[in-house]
Amino acid sequence: MPTLFQQIQAGKVWDFHGGIHPPSRKERTNQKPVALLDIPDRLYIPLRQHIGVAGKVLVKVGDRVLKGQALTQADNAMAVPVHAPTSGMVLAIELHTSTHPSSLAEPTLVLAPDGMDEWRPRKPLDPEQVDIYTLLERIQESGISGMGGAGFPTHIKVNVKQPVDYLIINAVECEPYITADDMLMQERASDIIAGIEILVKLLSPKAVLIGIEDDKPIAAASLKAAIGQRDNYFVREVPTKYPSGGEKQLIQLLTNKEVPAGRRPLDIGIVMQNVGTAFAIAQAVLDDIPLIHRVVTVAGETLAQQQNVLALIGTPISDLLNACGFQAEPQQRIIVGGPMMGFAIADWSVPVVKTTNCVLAPTENELGAASEEMDCIRCGACADACPASLLPQQLLWYSKAHDQDKLAEYNLSDCIECGACAYVCPSEIPLVHYYRVAKAEIRETQREALKAEQAKARFDARTERLEREKQERLERNQQLAAQRVAQQQASGQASQSAAAVQQALARTQQQSDQPLDKAQIIAERERKKAEALAYQQQKQQAQTATPAENTAPGTAEDPRKAAIAAALARAKAKKQAEAQPEAIEQPAPAETAASDTPDMDAKKAAVAAAIARAKAKKQAEAQPEAIEQPAPAETAASDIPDVNAKKAAVAAAIARAKAKKQAEAQPEAVEQPAPAETASSDTADMDAKKAAVAAAIARAKAKKLAEQAEAQQQTEVKATTQQAPSAEPQEPVAPPEQDAKKAAIAAAIARAKAKKQQNSEPL
Ligand code: SF4
Ligand code: SF4
Repeated sequence: MPTLFQQIQAGKVWDFHGGIHPPSRKERTNQKPVALLDIPDRLYIPLRQHIGVAGKVLVKVGDRVLKGQALTQADNAMAVPVHAPTSGMVLAIELHTSTHPSSLAEPTLVLAPDGMDEWRPRKPLDPEQVDIYTLLERIQESGISGMGGAGFPTHIKVNVKQPVDYLIINAVECEPYITADDMLMQERASDIIAGIEILVKLLSPKAVLIGIEDDKPIAAASLKAAIGQRDNYFVREVPTKYPSGGEKQLIQLLTNKEVPAGRRPLDIGIVMQNVGTAFAIAQAVLDDIPLIHRVVTVAGETLAQQQNVLALIGTPISDLLNACGFQAEPQQRIIVGGPMMGFAIADWSVPVVKTTNCVLAPTENELGAASEEMDCIRCGACADACPASLLPQQLLWYSKAHDQDKLAEYNLSDCIECGACAYVCPSEIPLVHYYRVAKAEIRETQREALKAEQAKARFDARTERLEREKQERLERNQQLAAQRVAQQQASGQASQSAAAVQQALARTQQQSDQPLDKAQIIAERERKKAEALAYQQQKQQAQTATPAENTAPGTAEDPRKAAIAAALARAKAKKQAEAQPEAIEQPAPAETAASDTPDMDAKKAAVAAAIARAKAKKQAEAQPEAIEQPAPAETAASDIPDVNAKKAAVAAAIARAKAKKQAEAQPEAVEQPAPAETASSDTADMDAKKAAVAAAIARAKAKKLAEQAEAQQQTEVKATTQQAPSAEPQEPVAPPEQDAKKAAIAAAIARAKAKKQQNSEPL
C-alpha cells in the first residue's frame, strides 16, 4: 500500500463531510485585472488589525510620515506594527468605528495623504544570504498577519520548533463572489512562489501542497508555471465545494488527516498559509514593502464596475464603493466578506484592513432579503451540510437555553461558522448568529471563571500564610517556654513552677485543641475557689498569730506591730487623761499621800488634780518612746546588765523635759542652769543618786514657788471679798497661780521619778 506521501505525489485528493454548492458568481470579477485606485482623501488606520495587541505608537498628531513608515512598534510578541500606506500628515489618533461585526470603536490613526506617495528608504533582503531570525524579524516588522480571515501574526505561526511535514498554501477561496486570491495568483504567481520559498526556508517541510479549487484553472496554471522544476511543490486542484477553504477541511482534502478537536494543525505536522500572506512575505523580504495594501473584491449589482482593486489599508469602504460606481438602494446592505461568512456594516466609513478580502454591495433581489425565522422542523439538513460533523439543531437548542455544559458536550468550539447549516435550513433560522452569541457568552464565563480562580488562589495563599504565621507563633512560644523552664531548672528553683508552667501550657493547649464541656468548667471553677479559700485562711491565721509573738520576751519586734501597740497605748493614755477631771473631784490617793500636809485646802487638791492630768498627758506623750524600748515590766523581768543605764537615761530625759518646762514658766530660773540639769548629763553611767539630788532640788524649788503663790493668793483673797467659801476650788486664772501649779507639777514629777529610781536602785 502506498504511503501518504506517495499518494500525495500521485495526485490523490480526499473529501470531507458535508458542504454545500452555492452559486459562485465569481465570473463577474475573475476575468478583470486588479485595478489601482486613486489615493483617498483620508485613510483610517486601526492600530490593531490582527489577533493580538496593538504596538506602541511612534508618531504624533501633525507629523508628516512617509509611505511604508512604521506608525507603531511591536513591543510584544503578539504585536505587529501598522504602516503609513502613503505619505501624508497625521491628523488625529482617535476612536473610529471598527471593521468588525460588533462595530465597536477602536483607536485609529487618521492620515491625510499629501498625494506625493513618497517612500521611506527601503532595504530589501536576499533570503539566501540572511538567517531565519532576520527573516522572521522582517516579517514581523512588516506587519504581516494572516490574510485569509483570522489575522494571526505570521511570524509566530512560522516560527516553529517541531518538524513540519507539509506546508499547505490555501488558494481555495471557496466563498461566492470572492476572486481576490484568484486574481493575485493569475497576476503575481511568481511573487507568491517566491514567498512560499521563504516559508520553506523557515519551516523546512517535506512537501509544499498548494490547494486550489478546480474553478480557477488560470490561477492554477500560473502557479504551476511559476513553480517550474522545483521539487516537492504540488498544485492540487480540489472539487469546488463550500467550505473547502476551511483550514481543517483543506487539510483533510489534501492529506486525509483530521485535526483533533482543540488541537492545531502543527500538532499533526502541518502549517497552512494563505496565498495572499505568501505574496506579502515576498514583498516584505524582497522589496521591503510592508503590508500597506491588499487586493479586495468589490462586487454586487449596485456597482457599475465589479472588480478587484488594490486598496490601501485604511481606505474607507465608501471610497472603495464609489471608485467602482456605487449606486445605493433605499435599503442598501453593505457586507464585508463573502455572503456566507461576511457581516453587514452600518457605518460605511469603516476602513479596509489587512483581513478584508471582499466588499459586497448587492441589490435587494441579488441575495434575497432575510425572511422571518420559523421553528425548527428537525429535518436534519443542517447536520448533513455541516463540514465539521456537528449537530447544528442541538447546538441551536442549547444556545437558546444558554446551557454551556451541553454546548461544550456538543463541541460548539469546533464550529467554523461557515454558515452551511443556515444556508440549507428550510426554517430560515440564522443558526450562525445563535452560535456566535453562545460563543461570546462562553468566553465571558471563562473570563469570569479565570478571575474567580485567580481570586481563590489569592485567598488560599492568604489563608496559608496566616496559618503558617500562627504555627510559627505557637512554635516560638513553646520554645520560649521551654527556655524558661530550662533556665529555672538550671538555677534549681523551679521544679514546681516549671511543672505549673507545663501544666498551664498543657491546659492552654488542651483548651485550644478541644472546647471544655460544662462539667469541666464547673470543676475548674471549684478548684480555683478552693485555692482562694485556702489562701484567705492562711492569711487570717498569720494575722491572729502576730500579737502573741510580739509579747513574747526576746522576740524581734515587727515595726508594724510596734506601731499598732504604740497607737493602742496612746489611745489608752488619752482615755485616762479624759477620765482625770472626775478624779479632781476626789483627791487622788497617790497625790494625797505625797503631800503629807494635814491642812491641805481645796486649791492644793486642784493642783494635785492638775498634776495628775499632766502626768497622764505626759505618759501619753512618752508612750512612743516607751514602745521603742522594752516595757518596764519586761525590763525588770530581764537580767540584762545595762538596764540600769537605760532607766537612768529615761529618768534624765524626763528630768530634762521638766526642767525645760520649768524654765519656760520661770524665766529667771533659766539664767542659771538648774542643778538637776547639770546633773542630768547624757552619759550612760549616770547613777540614781544624781537623779535623786536633782529631784530634791526640783522639789525644793517647787515648794518655794508654791509657798510664794499661796501667800500671794491669800493676800489677794483678803483684798477682795470673802464671798466664796474657801472650800470651793477656784480656777487658777492669775499668772502667779499658774507658776505655782507648774512648779507643783514639776515637783510631783520629780518626786515620782525619784521614787521610781529609788525603787530600782536595789537592782
Ligand atoms: S435545518 Fe433548520 S429546521 Fe432542519 S433541523 Fe436544522 S435547524 Fe432544524
Ligand atoms: S456553521 Fe458550524 S454548525 Fe453550521 S455547518 Fe458550519 S460548522 Fe457546522
